[in-house]
Amino acid sequence: MLDNVKEILISEEAIANRCRELGAQISQDYKDTVPVIIGLLKGSVPFMAELMKNITIDCEIEFMAVASYSGTESMGDVRILKDLDRSIIDHDVLIVEDIVDTGKTLEKVKELLYSKGAKTVKVVSLLDKPDRRTVEIEAEYVGFTIPNEFVVGFGLDFNQKYRNLPYVGILKEECYKGA
Ligand code: 5GP
Repeated sequence: MLDNVKEILISEEAIANRCRELGAQISQDYKDTVPVIIGLLKGSVPFMAELMKNITIDCEIEFMAVASYSGTESMGDVRILKDLDRSIIDHDVLIVEDIVDTGKTLEKVKELLYSKGAKTVKVVSLLDKPDRRTVEIEAEYVGFTIPNEFVVGFGLDFNQKYRNLPYVGILKEECYKGA
């Protein structure tokens, strides 16, 4: 597995440090409310775990699953695979995402959460690839802005593998070719 990683882009330590900063900022911004923090499965799991340790105000944790990519290319429409099983009416919602790429996933999920009656919907994303954006959407909180490379690790997969890497890395090109 490790032989397939060309380069470590963001170290485990850098992620931990950035999550401390993001947690402090979010705790400050949401101090007058109890946000519902919604992780998008499966990619957000390690980021959610690291981030929530650093949130020092009362909050609630939920998860949703949406279909995104197969391999390295977008499949177009986003499908809801696992919906929320609670009401978010009049709640301040914070979506936790692994990466904002084209922005299509977030656009749909934000739309859905507003249609369910959320008071506010904001986004915290571990990674942002602004060069790839096709819809006008930005995460309010971003861990790291990265170049247009396909990355894996810390929740991000290639064909369901590499999510368990403790850092974010770039895969060797030969790994895509056989897929
Ligand atoms: P968007 O809808 O913004 O194009 O795509 C978001 C989803 O695409 C992410 O949640 C992630 O699952 C997938 N994705 C986009 N870029 C990458 C990448 O560089 N690496 C991996 N592993 N997944 C990506």
